[in-house]
Amino acid sequence: MSNRLVVGNWKMNGGLAFNARLLDELIRGWKEDASRELAVCVPFPYLAQAQAALTGSPIAWGAQNVNAATSGAYTGEVATAMLMDFACRYVIVGHSERRQIYRESDEDIAAKAQACLDAGLTPIVCVGETLEEREAGSTESVVLRQLDAVLARVGERAADMVVAYEPVWAIGTGKTARPEQAQEVHARLRARLREAGAGSIAILYGGSVKADNAATLFSEQDIDGGLIGSASLKAGEFLAIAAA
Ligand code: PEP
Repeated sequence: MSNRLVVGNWKMNGGLAFNARLLDELIRGWKEDASRELAVCVPFPYLAQAQAALTGSPIAWGAQNVNAATSGAYTGEVATAMLMDFACRYVIVGHSERRQIYRESDEDIAAKAQACLDAGLTPIVCVGETLEEREAGSTESVVLRQLDAVLARVGERAADMVVAYEPVWAIGTGKTARPEQAQEVHARLRARLREAGAGSIAILYGGSVKADNAATLFSEQDIDGGLIGSASLKAGEFLAIAAA
């Protein structure tokens, strides 16, 4: 199967009527193609809606977070088995908003990735440096530290994950990494994944990807697709990115 993949991260956006229109436009606009895959990661309350709308279509769906525990006294949290009840394929773990706002550590994220793999879900493990870290020259050490925490935990099952490189300074800012800047990091990530026996998994780029910059980013050797935030809320824009 191809590892070309474009995933929409709706974040905390949407509503029943809005989602119904968006999903309908995606279904009508997306042509099944074995060489590439399209998916949307929606807020928990809309998983049932996504499942109902997308079942039978070539578009996959998933969640934006999960708890690593299987069940129990974790008020407000959601377990992997619950995501499986709604036939999710993907779960975003370690998004920079989770790392920064909710103080999730590398170890928390590794545990979530492992819980996903245990349950048969594909974790989309996000890594990325802040502007300060980039300016201090520590991009590589930061993203490898974040990735290594997950690899140490999941071992060879890393071959069943997806990784997303999302420079924090490019998320929702309109600033995109230059294709060669992103490629440099992707190549590092690929090399480390190869050592772990997972060199052929999809490595997505995320951070202000739009229809007009997707093609140049996706033409880089180690960029296999994108994790798309705000542009995934507009069907035409998202489909144009996915077609790039
Ligand atoms: C994201 O949230 O993963 C993201 C990449 O956002 P945006 O595309 O809006 O920068």
